[in-house]
Amino acid sequence: MTFDVATIRKQYPTLQQEVDGRRLVYLDSAASSQTPEAVLDAMDVYYRRLRANVERGVYRLSEEATGRYEAARARLARFVGAPSPDGVVFTRNVTEAINLVAYSWVRRRLGPGDAVLTTAMEHHANFVPWWHAAQDTGVELRIVPVREDFHLDVEAMEALLADGKVRFLALGHVSNVLGTINPLRELIALARAANPEVVVLVDGAQAVPHLPVDVAALDVDFYGITGHKMLGPTGIGALIAKPERLEQMPPFLTGGSMILDVSAEQVVWNHPPHRFEAGTPMIAEAFGLHAACDVLDELGMHEVRAHERGLVATFVDALVAADGVTVYGPTDPDQRSGAISFAVDGVHPHDLGAMLDSYGVCIRVGHHCAKPLMRWLGVNATARASLYVYNDVDDLAPLLEGIEAARRFFAR
Ligand code: PMP
Repeated sequence: MTFDVATIRKQYPTLQQEVDGRRLVYLDSAASSQTPEAVLDAMDVYYRRLRANVERGVYRLSEEATGRYEAARARLARFVGAPSPDGVVFTRNVTEAINLVAYSWVRRRLGPGDAVLTTAMEHHANFVPWWHAAQDTGVELRIVPVREDFHLDVEAMEALLADGKVRFLALGHVSNVLGTINPLRELIALARAANPEVVVLVDGAQAVPHLPVDVAALDVDFYGITGHKMLGPTGIGALIAKPERLEQMPPFLTGGSMILDVSAEQVVWNHPPHRFEAGTPMIAEAFGLHAACDVLDELGMHEVRAHERGLVATFVDALVAADGVTVYGPTDPDQRSGAISFAVDGVHPHDLGAMLDSYGVCIRVGHHCAKPLMRWLGVNATARASLYVYNDVDDLAPLLEGIEAARRFFAR
């Protein structure tokens, strides 16, 4: 299908609203995307027609709900090129997916003398679990620095890998602050050259919504995603893993559904992925995520990327050219995605956010859960405009207008 944003926007009820008589300009999809009708309808099917628990009923309603829940798993596996649905564990969000690996892999297998390598551009979700594990286990946490050009410092990374102690690499695919698309294959190859046994986790929260991703081709052990940034509902994410890795892991949370047998003497864990889905899962949300994958595939992920690449080029060029604006992130659209962080001289990001709100423009301001990166940038906060399938160039003028108004008002 051709990328007709006017038609696409009609599918999003929230975007039909006006703010003070103006079109709502939603530039915060890196925090959470909007929800299309198809996703709302899919969740409605659960609550209106198939409401029953899953994985345990013998009656048809429950069996059909279970079938659709498992179909969502298979759909997501296909969407991200996972080797098998058995390697898809539904979680609450990517934060939980990463914690699952921190608790069931890293904390169990690594100890003093081992190192975990992460980077200075990670979201806290892919930093704090490793920091915490390091505190508790004596594992060493190593951090790849960021270069002046907003890319990871590959030479420093090589040096951090040189002694072969890094047994686990935790890396973001796309930075939620800088927009930088990390060259995963190259970086993973470096880590594997230093230690062929290194286990790799990628935080794909900002990649899967925006780029065609093929997890099997990337050959990573773990890949985390979160549904609410990819047109899906809140409250569902997934850990995509090599099934053999999951087989080797004990559960993270325990309780119902994740066992084969329980007695006072012993508990036998269920097979993956069910071993990692204790309790009643997010059923309506799985239906919704299924529909979100359908919507994105119908648009075509290559087309989504092409649309955003064009738009990000226009936005970045305009912001770079605007008076008093500094953009933090690569300017080459081939090297970046649509999360654009910037500062406006003399205007605190929170003041800017409030001014833009009065123009009907929603942006994110703050540290973006990336405090190590904020420290490196030498700022407490940035403003961030982020783009998605329902944005177009009409969203640029109100952004620039609001920035100019904030400069006039605050930066005297
Ligand atoms: N990683 C990245 C790169 C993110 O942008 C985010 C969300 N801002 C997360 C992790 C955390 O996502 P969630 O809150 O859905 O777990």
